[in-house]
Amino acid sequence: MRDFVIITREYFDGENHFHNGPYSIAAVNGVIAAIYPYDLTKFTGRRPYSLLPAIKTGFLMPGLTEAHSHIFLDGSELDFTRRSEYLKSDAVNMLRVADVNILENLKYGITAVNDAGDIYGINAIIKKQADKFEGGFRFRTAGKAIRKKKKYGSFMAVETETPGEIRTAADQAVNEGDFLKILLTGIIDFENGMVKGPPQFNGDELKIMIDIAVKSGKRTAVHASGSEGLLAAVNSGVDSIEHGFFMTDEILHKMRDKNIAWVPTFSPVEFQRIRPELAGWNAESADKISRILDNHYEKLNRACRMGVTVLAGSDAGSYGVAHGCGLIDDMLYMHKAGMSTASVLRSATSLSRKIIGFETNDIKPGNILSAVCLSASPFADISNLKKVERVLPGYN
Ligand SMILES: [Zn+2]
Repeated sequence: MRDFVIITREYFDGENHFHNGPYSIAAVNGVIAAIYPYDLTKFTGRRPYSLLPAIKTGFLMPGLTEAHSHIFLDGSELDFTRRSEYLKSDAVNMLRVADVNILENLKYGITAVNDAGDIYGINAIIKKQADKFEGGFRFRTAGKAIRKKKKYGSFMAVETETPGEIRTAADQAVNEGDFLKILLTGIIDFENGMVKGPPQFNGDELKIMIDIAVKSGKRTAVHASGSEGLLAAVNSGVDSIEHGFFMTDEILHKMRDKNIAWVPTFSPVEFQRIRPELAGWNAESADKISRILDNHYEKLNRACRMGVTVLAGSDAGSYGVAHGCGLIDDMLYMHKAGMSTASVLRSATSLSRKIIGFETNDIKPGNILSAVCLSASPFADISNLKKVERVLPGYN
């Protein structure tokens, strides 16, 4: 691996913002060897690492982590017929799409992806192959998620009905996946502005799955929206709430007290607000979508002020949510909700990697180098997150 020194005006190390540069960050054998608060190239030959080739940039931060994605799905495919035909295509085709999606993640500076389930097992194959991607790319996956028979989630989850089937599916999921993903509720019914029907699993059934996950030392991530499902999820002791639309203060309090993380995934619903005509929403439904989102922004703001752990995840692969770009959009939405730039960055770097279980890539001596160079600082304008110059070490 090529050794080099990065000269940057500013950097974010995963926790804090350093803005009195220049700084020099020396990387040797893929590891951050040293950080100096000056420009090493001004001391050619007189300081350690000063003869290494220099990479100059405006801003450096750890490679981002996508906390909720479906790597085998192409979120930029907007034709409903082509989307459903794709689900009947073969593994070779799906793997090709997944490879493109990984490159899209890297292009936007995302070097770690947490896959939230696919029934076709493409995520399991990608996990085995993840090492082949440059740029220190890391991948974790739920494998196959778990759902109730005939309920929402056929593209990502195995069907279960009886307690025995639930137990078998959970055993298999914790053996094959890095964490357990449970589909507790359906998706949002935008026409009626609500989540229809009761949760897919009752408290006893949830407990069977969570106990199995706890025993195997794995996290439990639960797809839940609507107050009934959210309440069931937080009461049962899950580790993270995925989506969490129709959030309430009562549920946020429980999440904070029980240390349950929230992955708010604005992007799929924001896409419905931005392009209502694609799904044929009339003005009344569009208004309901807006109100659902307004509550989501307000509750995320409240969650942050209360100290709830929030992780950045976009549900990339969902309708209208492209891999890579989708996570950056979600980070912009989190900022719009009132989160500071540093909080948004923590949610997509140090915090996310710690909770999901990726090794740290904080910009600190001794850590692996898996970082992103931006031409301008996101602290000046958060949309500068899209100004990726290069991803280090390997991917440009
Ligand atoms: Zn999802």
